[in-house]
Amino acid sequence: MFCYQTRTMVTGSNKGIGYAIVRGLCKQFEGDVYLTARKEELGQEAIKSLNSEGLSPKFHQLDITDQASIGRLRDFLKNTYGGLDILVNNAGIAYKQASTAPFAEQAEVSIRTNYQGTSDLCNALFPLLRPHARVVNVSSMVSTFAIKKCSKEVQAKFLNYKITVDDLTNLMHDFIQAAKKGNHESKGYPSSAYGMSKVGVSVLSEIQHRQLSADPREDILVNACCPGYVNTDMSSHKGHKTIDQGADTPLYLALLPPGTKSPAGNFLSERKIKKWNE
Ligand code: NDP
Repeated sequence: MFCYQTRTMVTGSNKGIGYAIVRGLCKQFEGDVYLTARKEELGQEAIKSLNSEGLSPKFHQLDITDQASIGRLRDFLKNTYGGLDILVNNAGIAYKQASTAPFAEQAEVSIRTNYQGTSDLCNALFPLLRPHARVVNVSSMVSTFAIKKCSKEVQAKFLNYKITVDDLTNLMHDFIQAAKKGNHESKGYPSSAYGMSKVGVSVLSEIQHRQLSADPREDILVNACCPGYVNTDMSSHKGHKTIDQGADTPLYLALLPPGTKSPAGNFLSERKIKKWNE
């Protein structure tokens, strides 16, 4: 028997902005909220910490780079609830500026997590989205800086309004291959592995919007956003926003009421629609 209670899940939510998104959803959303983490013990610690605030999120393990982990979560959701109402794709990684890891490695690992992992999870979970579902992809304003640094030719490929997920994945792989050969700049790509991975997330969101707009399930919205510069491990705690301030725009998008016409398929910062690619 399915449980038809509404439900929501947030990727990479054992700490940082994802943790604050779960906290906000627990306070504002009627239904089960899932905190997910790739490391079970870190997830359980986060659950305990939220329990001490009187909040009761549930936990499920999820590593977005692991197909088996994605499959287990999909099966669990399908068998327990038969659907999903809110999906916040927050999990991400960024190499530190001072990292000595070769650029090719940074390109491959950043894209595998931030772009490919997000895309793979969406492929698995989108069939479960219910009418009026909300999908929020946490991207970054860094995608704006990265697309501006691409050559006009490369920009045109990413911003082609007919681009498909396969085309986008091929472009991401082309960037990785070029990074491995050391000729990514002469091919029109910038030297920003994180930036290119977030270009992938921003473009993916637009494609997903197009696909879900044509879906028979009613009123499913996909939006991307930048949380701002937030005080987390990722920013080495240099960000000026608290995690709850960083969670504000993702939460706003996750909780858009039924029938919302705008924002839809947009990129937002501070709850406002921005043209990320101009
Ligand atoms: P944190 O580094 O604090 O948290 C990142 C979270 O993602 C952690 O829970 C981490 O898990 C998880 N994660 C990493 N890889 C995976 C994976 N393969 N599968 C599942 N979970 C994973 O980062 P923030 O909270 O700062 O960032 C959250 C999002 O916001 C990211 O997408 C980031 O790019 C974006 N962002 C952040 C900004 C900022 O200023 N902080 C600015 C703009 C965008 P673990 O603890 O195991 O590493």
